[in-house]
Amino acid sequence: MGEFALIREHFAQMRCARLGQAALGIGDDCAVLPMVADAQWAVSSDMLVSGRHFFPDVAPDRLGHKALAVNLSDLAAMGAKPRAFTLSIALPQRDDAWLGQFCAGMDRLACAHQCELVGGDTTRGPLTIAITVMGELPLGAGLRRDRAELGDEVWISGSLGGAALALDVLQNEKLAPAQALRDSLEIPEPRVLLGLGLQHLARAAIDISDGLVQDAGHICERSRVGMQLDWLRIPKHAALGDADLAMQQQCVLSGGDDYELLFCAAPENHLAIAALGEQLGLPLACVGQVEVGERVRVLDGRGHEIMVRQAGFDHFV
Ligand code: ADP
Ligand code: MG
Repeated sequence: MGEFALIREHFAQMRCARLGQAALGIGDDCAVLPMVADAQWAVSSDMLVSGRHFFPDVAPDRLGHKALAVNLSDLAAMGAKPRAFTLSIALPQRDDAWLGQFCAGMDRLACAHQCELVGGDTTRGPLTIAITVMGELPLGAGLRRDRAELGDEVWISGSLGGAALALDVLQNEKLAPAQALRDSLEIPEPRVLLGLGLQHLARAAIDISDGLVQDAGHICERSRVGMQLDWLRIPKHAALGDADLAMQQQCVLSGGDDYELLFCAAPENHLAIAALGEQLGLPLACVGQVEVGERVRVLDGRGHEIMVRQAGFDHFV
């Protein structure tokens, strides 16, 4: 069975490929999407490479979920509503059982967000997944990295450090992490509804994919501000309770793959943001503020700065 049959029997069969939002979906030279009046497209791509971003033997449905989730997370960090995506994939061989599960995991998440699969590319090669997502943003909207202002409060959703701890257990201890911990690494939940809810409440946002200090630093750099974060207020994954302080700080401050949102908002929106968290059933913690400066300072319980050895993940360092 060839490439076209593979596309027809797996990718084009997904429910999310037939949501009917596109004017023309899979099967032609281009997909055609209707333009929405008074809206603009937010577009983002993320690529996952076997052995670098995931273990080659990870459960395929989880891989399908995560490949799309990391992309939806970028839309969330912009406050955009998911609309469509393309899936480009290199596969070492055709494995129908593997593909069926991979597509099922991706399809569930895509349908939950009404995000339509409208095209892609399929080739043979070392397992690599590249997705481009397209989301809708009202004109003028968008939680840009360069919009934080002095005095803004800094917030973080969910909890941090779980994915990094799970990775450490898998890599260094060669053990199976507890299920909840493994889930935080393998099936992160993109904070799409939070991003949408923040459109009118926050000024700047970023998703924490490469480590808290590094990603918060991107907002500082682009907004030309500093940020002070309170270690004790930063939400930590429950499984870190047993780890020593150095490990906790490493996972929470420098660990990657959490896909929670960090956002900056005016203090007058504090109560509305807390109410949004309640409504979504998602813990939101106010962890610090935007200050004069140019970098992120994390202070311990006594007000001393915690020295962060490595700010986050960088493929070329
Ligand atoms: P082209 O020759 O124009 O590159 P292809 O033969 O690669 O087209 O793909 C045929 C159709 O299938 C196109 O509409 C393309 O968008 C779609 N397609 C290819 N691979 C995928 C995939 N992995 N997921 C979804 N659609 C795909
Ligand atoms: Mg092609």
